[in-house]
Amino acid sequence: EDTVARIAAGEVVERPASAVKELLENSLDADASRIDIAVEDGGTELIRVADDGRGMTESAVRAAVRQHTTSKIDGLEDLESGVATLGFRGEALHTIGSVSRLTVETRPRADGDGTGRDEAAGAGTKLVYEGGEVTAVEPTGCPEGTTVEVADLFYNTPARRKFLNTTATEFAHVNRVVTRYALANPDVAISLTHDDREVFATTGQGDLQEAILSVYGREVAKAMIPVEADGDELPVGPLESVTGLVSHPETTRSSRDYLATYVNGRAVTSDAIREGIMGAYGTQLGSDRYPFVVLFLEVPGEAVDVNVHPRKREVRFDDDDAVRRAVDSAVESALLEHGL
Ligand code: ADP
Ligand code: MG
Repeated sequence: EDTVARIAAGEVVERPASAVKELLENSLDADASRIDIAVEDGGTELIRVADDGRGMTESAVRAAVRQHTTSKIDGLEDLESGVATLGFRGEALHTIGSVSRLTVETRPRADGDGTGRDEAAGAGTKLVYEGGEVTAVEPTGCPEGTTVEVADLFYNTPARRKFLNTTATEFAHVNRVVTRYALANPDVAISLTHDDREVFATTGQGDLQEAILSVYGREVAKAMIPVEADGDELPVGPLESVTGLVSHPETTRSSRDYLATYVNGRAVTSDAIREGIMGAYGTQLGSDRYPFVVLFLEVPGEAVDVNVHPRKREVRFDDDDAVRRAVDSAVESALLEHGL
């Protein structure tokens, strides 16, 4: 039955980037103000996510790696937002730990709002979880917050391990995930390091423009144009607002990776949104060129279909056409205002 569980885990944790995404979400959920992510070999050898969030007591961290444990009671709210990570509640640590060697070092914040407030805060705990078994729990000296290390991902699922791509490709997936969260959370200092080289670090002190500067650099940041459309500035349809930044048509890349789009705060991909963006630029973009885009859509939950698959970020709308038109119109107005 272990084998079946491991195969199921491999279906959910597809690659290093999926583990990074879950760990990063946990750190944000834990109210972290800084999150440092370091990966080695594209994340296949090591993923380390260190946060200064609430932390966990010993009993909380023991519970956290069990199946179906969650300290979060907002499941219903997530479902109503229409774009929850369905089928993954309370499963991430357990699932990742069943296909890797997982180490958690954690210490509750001294202000005592760590999970399991009955226990004395202050002491740190190190828990080792390998292939689905807790193999060590010991006290440790560590700062407040939580550091999760995932080593040797898929070491016990050789077929899945073999399926992994090159270091460069796996790292590109990790980079895209971390970038998306960094852009959506400019008030959290998020850094990404690959094989000891810092890829980017946001300050956690600024706005979206400053996060773009940290992530993509000065040239791109300078080329960004604000999009700000709501209410009657949008065509009739399900969208309540479209806000963010898009690049001047001369500042492009040949990859869709730089289209960062969000629905109700969650990173998503959507054909309708992408087609709306591309439609607004029209022929101003060269062939196979894509702008830099960071765009936030607000939509009533009932207008969004749930994910096609729990680990994918693809969304569908009840009225894809209306979404495409609204995005097109919002981005086009922004470009027009800049004489483009
Ligand atoms: P979920 O996030 O759906 O609750 P997870 O398996 O991702 O499930 O995490 C299980 C639990 O472990 C969380 O509910 C939370 O209480 C705790 N936890 C995980 N990561 C952290 C972290 N970085 N800081 C504090 N608590 C955490
Ligand atoms: Mg989680």
